[in-house]
Amino acid sequence: MRNFQGIDLLLWNSFMGKAYSVSDCFKENGIGVLVRACKNEGFNIIIEDPARIDFYTTFTKNDLTPRLSELSTHIFGKGDIENTVSMRREWNDLQDNHTKIIKEKMEKYIEDLAQKISKNKVKVLGIKTWLGDRFAYSEKLAKRVGELCPNTLIIAGGPQVNQFKTHALEKSPFDFCIDVEGETTLTKIIHITKEMYCQGRTKSEVIKRITELAEAGEIFNLIYKDGNGTVKETPIKRLSLNLKPLPLYEKEDGKVNIAVINESSGCYYGKCNFCTHPNITGRYQARDINITLAEIKKTIREMGVGLFRFAGSTTPVSLSSRIADAITKEGLTLEYSMFVRAENRARERTDELIETYERIIRSGLRAVFLGTEVANNEILSKIMGKGNSVDDIYFTIQAIKQASYNQRKHLDVGVSFIYPCPIPPGSGITHEQVLEENLCFLRKLKSENYMPDSVLITPAAPLPATVWQIEPRRFGFNMPEDYLQTILRYEYELTKDPSTWPELNISLEGMKFMDMLKMAGFMEKKVREMGYTVNVSDEHCLAARSAGFVGQRGLEEFKIKSDLALLTTNYGFLRDVYQKINEYSRNLAEKNFSSTNKIFFVGGKAS
Ligand code: SF4
Repeated sequence: MRNFQGIDLLLWNSFMGKAYSVSDCFKENGIGVLVRACKNEGFNIIIEDPARIDFYTTFTKNDLTPRLSELSTHIFGKGDIENTVSMRREWNDLQDNHTKIIKEKMEKYIEDLAQKISKNKVKVLGIKTWLGDRFAYSEKLAKRVGELCPNTLIIAGGPQVNQFKTHALEKSPFDFCIDVEGETTLTKIIHITKEMYCQGRTKSEVIKRITELAEAGEIFNLIYKDGNGTVKETPIKRLSLNLKPLPLYEKEDGKVNIAVINESSGCYYGKCNFCTHPNITGRYQARDINITLAEIKKTIREMGVGLFRFAGSTTPVSLSSRIADAITKEGLTLEYSMFVRAENRARERTDELIETYERIIRSGLRAVFLGTEVANNEILSKIMGKGNSVDDIYFTIQAIKQASYNQRKHLDVGVSFIYPCPIPPGSGITHEQVLEENLCFLRKLKSENYMPDSVLITPAAPLPATVWQIEPRRFGFNMPEDYLQTILRYEYELTKDPSTWPELNISLEGMKFMDMLKMAGFMEKKVREMGYTVNVSDEHCLAARSAGFVGQRGLEEFKIKSDLALLTTNYGFLRDVYQKINEYSRNLAEKNFSSTNKIFFVGGKAS
């Protein structure tokens, strides 16, 4: 059999027929890095990335959208109760029909994509998998490609594989999965596949060869099935952050111009019992500041992008302050967001923290997110393993807010809580007490004028490879045997009211997940009544502010309108917002193009 012509790799960013969140259409760093690595090897590739607002708008267009939009303004606005009840019934019926329509469209989409793969004689199909429905559609595509194109090798990667590891392959129709990063492993597999197809070998021979290499330890980061069908994983090897290729973005790719910068990877603490980040990112790595700065400058210069998100799970203030100093020294204009962790001994270090955050804010920091988890020291240490006290968290928030007041620059601070959460056995602490302590913490911040801009609340659930999942009984969790397979395909949205999430067959000290969702919803209600904005994520903040939504009211308006756009699939609002963000990002970038800025101009010409 001869199959050495055609496309070497088709890379699909998995999709579920509609937008999942506001950040879907942001620039795709992971795909950008893979594209760079594949182009460097001279591969012939096709990128199928439906996460563009133009595509979403055309794809989801259907007759129900106008009525859904109309109903949404009554149901989620201030209508009279009686009308709202009947409208809600209509809304639910329409939503059911809408789901059916999207499903039919997706079936056709998957079929067309499989046909395209077949027509182009694609040697390797790479799928970037995400949670929930997008994972289920990844499996559907893999199954159809398996039937239609028996010579196409199917490889899954992306956030869902990174999180679920071998479980992602156990019951899925992929040939292999690649864990954590694909630059080296994927390119190696493509080389092997091309070479063997050139020699007239079959796909099963290719799979056998790759499996042999995996068994011999000659290929890293690979999840595969051995001769007995047992799913295994080869050792993980990560490129040093300093050696990672910079992403290659297409110009005018229809994406939102907010770029991800790998200033660090992972979490420098990495010991929280509930957190899945260390499992995904491995040990903490900080990138050489000069490389970070070079990437920022290159992105500004070549892409006209001035908005960034730092990728680290928690960027330590020692690193962000040095990056900030370098940005300021170079005279760069940009804005960015990042995740942070509360500082130990923050109360005693308040002055130092304020001064440091002032420098960081001057360099362009506009949003930070940090985990509070719970305002109870015993739970923080015994259950969460957080390594911070309530005081540390409180005074870190206070210092960040104070720094932004001193600089007269608005900085969004988002905090997250896990409620309800496990309680230390024999402590006598009750969920009611925890709720009251959480509310008291927020009340105090508000009364002292250090109110965070957003509060995210989620119920506790054991995620793969966390201490909570490995030792569920110790924390009071009860989970069915197929728990990981269930949450692998579980569809939820962090930014949506948890009481709307589907049931999950787990319990905490006998409390069903549905009841936990209700408790989280109750805390959300209380927090909202206190005057807080809830469930707005970091990407919402950066997007809302860049699109011109100011103050708390602006953030809430943005949140409501973007949620409605996602619910109704009427993407007019998102389209306008993305356009404004792109203009804003471009304007920021252009501030670096002045003739006085030596970095970008050499002899009056952009360098
Ligand atoms: S929750 Fe935050 S601080 Fe804790 S390990 Fe995860 S990323 Fe690090």
